[in-house]
Amino acid sequence: MTTPPLPGELVFEAPRRGKPAKHLMDLDATQRRAAVVELGLPAFRADQVSRQWLNRLSDNPDTWTDVSLDARTKIKDALLPTLLTPIKVISCDEGQTVKSVWRLHDGALIESVLMRYPDRVTMCISSQAGCGMNCPFCATGQGGLQRNLSTAEIVEQVLAGARALERDEIAGGPGRVSNIVFMGMGEPLANYKAVIDALHRINDPAPAGMGIGARGITVSTVGLVPRMHDLANEGLPVTLALSLHAPDDELRDTLVPLNTRYPVREVLDAAWAYADKTHRRVSIEYALIKGINDQPFRAELLARLLEGELVHVNLIPLNPTPGSQWTASLPRDEAAFVRILRNRGVQVTVRDTRGREIDGACGQLAATANE
Ligand code: SAH
Repeated sequence: MTTPPLPGELVFEAPRRGKPAKHLMDLDATQRRAAVVELGLPAFRADQVSRQWLNRLSDNPDTWTDVSLDARTKIKDALLPTLLTPIKVISCDEGQTVKSVWRLHDGALIESVLMRYPDRVTMCISSQAGCGMNCPFCATGQGGLQRNLSTAEIVEQVLAGARALERDEIAGGPGRVSNIVFMGMGEPLANYKAVIDALHRINDPAPAGMGIGARGITVSTVGLVPRMHDLANEGLPVTLALSLHAPDDELRDTLVPLNTRYPVREVLDAAWAYADKTHRRVSIEYALIKGINDQPFRAELLARLLEGELVHVNLIPLNPTPGSQWTASLPRDEAAFVRILRNRGVQVTVRDTRGREIDGACGQLAATANE
């Protein structure tokens, strides 16, 4: 016979894969009202609790003085299970970059990053535990896909950052999250429904959502063409980022294996269709890898593909993954690449590399969390 754990004692359970318990944030505003009625409570309690949770950023029901004690207790027990447990938090850049590794109910690990800039706060969040896209330069890709995140698990990453900011736990004083990028672990468009629902929770006005503007939200994809078209029709004018990394199919087939299914021409056509429909500038992600995709002829080829389109190129110096022989391009090659694009009128910036020194970028934090 095993002794039951004492209160406060840690219990280590075997990983249990599968869906997390149902959470208020899995539900839209109408479904939340129905769920509350099912608990024997008046529907308006759902809106009150949503405002506390999403807008006041209060995750402690004891402070919800506008909600009856009975309603607080019932809603907390039935609809607010703990989804993310912090297992590692690292900050750098004088506390203005904070990376978190979270454990999910089944033992899977994900990461999120908060980056504070003078004019904005960006959160980089995960949409899947692991990733099935298998890009050889990406740390997340090496471990394969564990599972899709639920809507609430995605939203909770944003809320955790928003709460920390509001409570003055991030260097620079109290603040708000203004930008969200789906550039953590996973391929967001391969977890389409949960991601769309999460976008609504993040973007919709109170009490349905947090009210963060769609202009500040970026969904990054390897190029799942049918889903890019679907996203264009959602009426959510978020920024689409396309991880191109090579202008030619021969190289892109190796860097982004999904290219064998949706080649360069098709992913770019889908990107331009997205720009036409949403009037949003598409972002092209291009990780510069020394001697692999950073040659002047590739810059020329890329420039020819992009010139005249509503596009912005984001060059990302490769963040080498442990054990990989690839490294970031030399500064002079990077500068030449930028120049070639600019000469053809293509807008380009080189991404800053926050968090590099703590192995935090691009899935590496969760990959090393157990070491
Ligand atoms: N699956 C999505 C979003 C996650 S990754 C996508 O691929 O777009 C966000 C961006 O970081 C992608 O452009 C991805 O290719 C890039 N990336 C991944 N690993 C990287 C690394 N080691 N160095 C630089 N960029 C990387």
